[in-house]
Parts: sequence; structure tokens; C-alpha cells
Amino acid sequence: RRGLADLPPLVSDSLLALIAMVNADPRTDKIDVGVGVYRDGAGRTPVMRAVKESERRLHEAQDSKSYLGGAGDRRFAELLRPIVLGAHAGDDRIVGLQTPGGCGALFLALKLIAAFNPQARVFMGTPTWPNHPPMARGARLEIVEYRHYDPVARAVDFGAMIEALESARPGDVALLHACCHNPTGADLSEDQWREVARVVAERRLIPLIDFAYQGFGRGLEQDRFGVEVLLEACNEVLITQSCDKNFAVYRDRVGCLFVKAPSADIAKFAMTHLLQISREAWSMPPDHGAAAVRTVLDNADLAADWRVELDAMHGRIRMVRERIAAADPRLAYIADQQGMFSMLPLSVEQVKRLRSEHSIYMADSGRANLVGIADGDLDRFCEAVVGALD
Ligand code: PMP
Repeated sequence: RRGLADLPPLVSDSLLALIAMVNADPRTDKIDVGVGVYRDGAGRTPVMRAVKESERRLHEAQDSKSYLGGAGDRRFAELLRPIVLGAHAGDDRIVGLQTPGGCGALFLALKLIAAFNPQARVFMGTPTWPNHPPMARGARLEIVEYRHYDPVARAVDFGAMIEALESARPGDVALLHACCHNPTGADLSEDQWREVARVVAERRLIPLIDFAYQGFGRGLEQDRFGVEVLLEACNEVLITQSCDKNFAVYRDRVGCLFVKAPSADIAKFAMTHLLQISREAWSMPPDHGAAAVRTVLDNADLAADWRVELDAMHGRIRMVRERIAAADPRLAYIADQQGMFSMLPLSVEQVKRLRSEHSIYMADSGRANLVGIADGDLDRFCEAVVGALD
């Protein structure tokens, strides 16, 4: 008889190992650019003001915690439509449902694709968020990789991307990062998005757009540019959205999946499948975080304050990028990239030296969460990285 001891060994998650290393370091001047959460100038990840106030109002007003149903908080998904879908918010061929975070949305999206086309291959640019490949494999979908990032140009390898998408078969899936590419920070330009949309539509591929960082890139409206052009060009689109970063509700697990179908009837039918898949996985999404986000968006005062705070977070991301870019010409590209992450041009040896000599912790790949650096540590960070490059 086989038992638990027969489980196959797992490759340990290198980011988790990094967290353990940071925690084990007794020095008090540690800089942690490994973990992927927003930090303010003081190095904290606070609850946003508008969320705190919405939670207070929720606490007062909530008179039941009875089940809501598989789609979760419907008003939450409705209020997100203009933010996420922009000009397409009123399109009745697009249905949306609440999910446990962006991960929950990706899980549903990939399972849905596998349910109508198990032969679909998922095209993903490398490097990508490390959870993308196992999630696609979990849905039993084949993966085709291409190079997203050119480490010499320190920008998107757009030629490789187009070549890969042009080689795809109709019905294959193009997994795209809407903005703030994780881990490289290298986003598509508007012209490049138009070109991707043209190829995806021409090859009749299905875009699966991972939208985890809206508002952290060029701005809340600008960040959905790719989503809007793909919705314009294609009649089947899946968008996996997360509020965990832009509402800073990470552990509350708040996300949404939007699915565009060729007709409103097909969209409704797809929704019945989504509810079945979610029923098997988690039955219903957790309520609290989505209710808090809904309360923010449903109250003009809270929505306005959320926007102010989100824009301030965006401003800090830009400020840190400009400061690092100005430290050395070899880091100038950092200012052209978007979101919290960039790949620093460091070897594994250099990354390890930064850990031992400067207590600066980043992934072996050189991926750094640039807003992990508190304001008071920015100069020391820049000096240490430039020193490591020399
Ligand atoms: N996609 C990307 C690219 C991400 O970086 C993340 C979070 N690290 C997610 C999806 C999932 O976000 P959530 O925490 O909402 O599940």
C-alpha cells in the first residue's frame, strides 16, 4: 500500500527560502526586495485609509453572514467593470464573478479553457510569474514558452513574442500580463499592444490577460490599454483581475474573472460552467475583502480617497525608479519599466555578495521589488548595487 511517504519530492520555492534567509539574519539594517508587496516610504504595507473606513462601515451595517452564492458579491464585480474593462464595461457579452484573488481567477480561467479545448496550448513569455506554469499544468494544458525579456536590451523581446504568437494554432491561448510585468517590469508599448491584438485576432487565439497590478504602472486608466484593445479585437477574452495589490488587501484574497464570449447567451452559459468549476474548488469565494472593496467603490467619498492613496503609491513607485535609474547609466532602463519589479543586471554571485556584505536580499535572478526599499535606505541600496556592478 502506498502512503503519504510516497509523495514525490518538490522543488522548494526559492522566494520562500529567501524569506527564511531574511528572517534568520540578525542584522537590523536589512533591505528586503524579495517579497512582492507594496511598501511605503517607511517600509510598511499599511491597510489603506479607504479600506479601513469601509471595513468600519461594513462592521456596522452587516447583519448577516449567510451564504452569498458561487459568484460571490455581485455588486463588487459590477463596480469593477468600468475600472477594469473601461469602454467595454457595458458589453453584455462579458460576464464577471468574484474569485479568491487573482490566483482563483487564473485557476477558473485555465480550467474553463481546458473544459472547452483540452488541446489548447498556453503561450507564455519567459520569465513569467512562477505560478503561471504550474497553474497551466494543473489544468492539464500544454505550455509553449517564448522569450518575453531580452536581458541585453533590458526590454521586451517583441520580435520573439510576435514570432511565437504567429506560430500558434487557432484556439491556443496567449497569456499576457496587462501591465507591470512580473518579474521584469518590461511592458508593451501602445503600438505593441495593437500589434499583439492584430496577431491574436488574425490567428484566432484566446487572450488570457493577467491583470494583477492595475494602477501601479502608467496609471489606473492607462494600465488597461491592452485589455481594451484586445476586447476590441477579439470576441473571446479572459481577464483575471486582482484587487489584492491596488486595494492592499492581499491576505483577504480579492479578485475577479471576466470572460467575454461571442454572444450574451454564450457568456451566460460559460458562467454556469464557471460556477460549477468554482463549486468543486472552493464553493464560494471568501466575502470580507470583496465586500470591503465594494463598499469603497460604492461610496463616492471612499472611492475618491482610495484613488488619492493609489495614486500616491504609484507616485512612490515612479520616484524609486527614477532614483535608482539616476544612480548609474547601467541602471537607466529602470525608469522605462513599470510596476514594482525589475531585474537588476547582477550575477548570482553579485546577488549573494549583496546579501552577505550589505544585508540586501533579492532573488538569485536579480529580480527586485523596488518599493521594498524604505526611503531612508534608497541611497545605501543604490550605492551597494552600483558597487556590485563595478
Ligand atoms: N498574477 C501575477 C502576475 C502576480 O504577481 C500575482 C501576485 N503575486 C497574481 C497574479 C495573484 O495575485 P493574488 O494574490 O490576488 O492571487
